[in-house]
Amino acid sequence: MVGGGAAGMLAAIVAAEAGERVTLLEGSGKLGRKILISGNGRCNLTNRAADDLRHYHGTHPRFVRSALDQFRLEETLAFFADLGIEFREEKRQRLFPVSDQAQSVVDLLADRMRCLGVRVETNAKVMGMGMGRAAGSARFELRDAEGLCYTGARVIMASGGVSLARLGADRSGLDLAVGLGHRLTDLNPGLVPLISPEKYLARMQGVKIRAEVRVALKGGREAVDTDDLLFTKYGVSGFTILNLSARLVPELRAKRAVLRVNFFPGRSPEAISQLLKERWQRHPHRSLELSFAGLLSSKLVRPLLDHLGFDAAQRVDQLGKGARWQLAQHLTNWPIAVSGPRPFDYAEVTIGGVRTEDINPDTLESFLVPGLYFAGEMVDIHADLGGFNFQWAWASGVLAGRRLGS
Ligand SMILES: Cc1cc2nc3c(=O)[nH]c(=O)nc-3n(C[C@H](O)[C@H](O)[C@H](O)COP(=O)(O)OP(=O)(O)OC[C@H]3O[C@@H](n4cnc5c(N)ncnc54)[C@H](O)[C@@H]3O)c2cc1C
Repeated sequence: MVGGGAAGMLAAIVAAEAGERVTLLEGSGKLGRKILISGNGRCNLTNRAADDLRHYHGTHPRFVRSALDQFRLEETLAFFADLGIEFREEKRQRLFPVSDQAQSVVDLLADRMRCLGVRVETNAKVMGMGMGRAAGSARFELRDAEGLCYTGARVIMASGGVSLARLGADRSGLDLAVGLGHRLTDLNPGLVPLISPEKYLARMQGVKIRAEVRVALKGGREAVDTDDLLFTKYGVSGFTILNLSARLVPELRAKRAVLRVNFFPGRSPEAISQLLKERWQRHPHRSLELSFAGLLSSKLVRPLLDHLGFDAAQRVDQLGKGARWQLAQHLTNWPIAVSGPRPFDYAEVTIGGVRTEDINPDTLESFLVPGLYFAGEMVDIHADLGGFNFQWAWASGVLAGRRLGS
């Protein structure tokens, strides 16, 4: 097993349960470092909607079907409940351990591996892998950075993505796959803030609101998300942006995109125009800026009005129907151009990885190298925010581990 993250640990447990002798080689000094920092240290372990394939993306998103089908939400919850984890559901159907500690997830997975006799080697970064022959049969030979050698009849690669180099993530695992003949897709940061060329956004830096954000995708499709939207000095972030980035970032390589923001989620321009009419009639002496007090963050109102060319100090009883309609239309459909993602150091996942065309979706075994399996984020699969990336890691780890033990 190469990699002691979410996928690697589940694969090791399942293979050892089936009676296999398992060695897990983890490049860093600790198991599950991404689990530890996930969900702000609380680990959003999965999602009530984890079985819904629409949350998973990649060049061939249907590749996930077999893995998810054989480790559905119910089984995932039962597996973790058996370890000792109780769940709490939060907004967007996200499931967290009630301990609120990601550490408990890693501790319990490590404990299960210990009980099953899995040999765990930390600080064992695999830098070379090839095929050798022992007692007449082909075996994998793995060499770590210290020059130590390990051999095995079968290998599961679960070395993760390339985001967060400060946690030791790098391309070493992907390079090993390439060395064995596998092809990679382009790699992009995913679940990541977006950069905008719009300079006025810097004036709204630090403001977080609830908004509906839409963006047009290739092929006439549209992605929509309603949640936190955070303005930053480089562009936009927050739950809604991170989530939309899963589908938008691959398209941003070719061209800029325009986000359409409704500052009043679920409400139409007509409804907002009517709302402004009532507010302006009730308090006709107020300035345009003050007329939004209690309705929209004051830190947003001034920059938005300035950007539209409105005089924020103008009394509302001097403004007509046309101005009101213009405001209502803009505030429910505000365009923000975005030019690209922040770098990998700010990304929760890697979009892209080992090409799925070269892997059997029903077994996760390589079509090119018999006995070699892939699981987790290093495969060209990524998912929406909310526990779906872990679900892919758990489920693919289990499928690869089961095949190893079969
Ligand atoms: C800040 C942050 C928060 C996140 N929060 C969530 C969340 O709440 N919910 C969710 O679903 N997802 C979350 N994710 C995504 C999730 O962590 C990953 O999708 C998941 O960890 C992928 O599991 P994996 O086992 O494939 O890879 P990883 O967990 O990255 O594990 C790969 C392991 O392989 C090791 N490795 C790499 N190369 C080698 C090598 N050559 N030799 C040996 N070992 C090697 C690495 O050190 C690492 O331990 C978050 C990610 C980040 C960065």
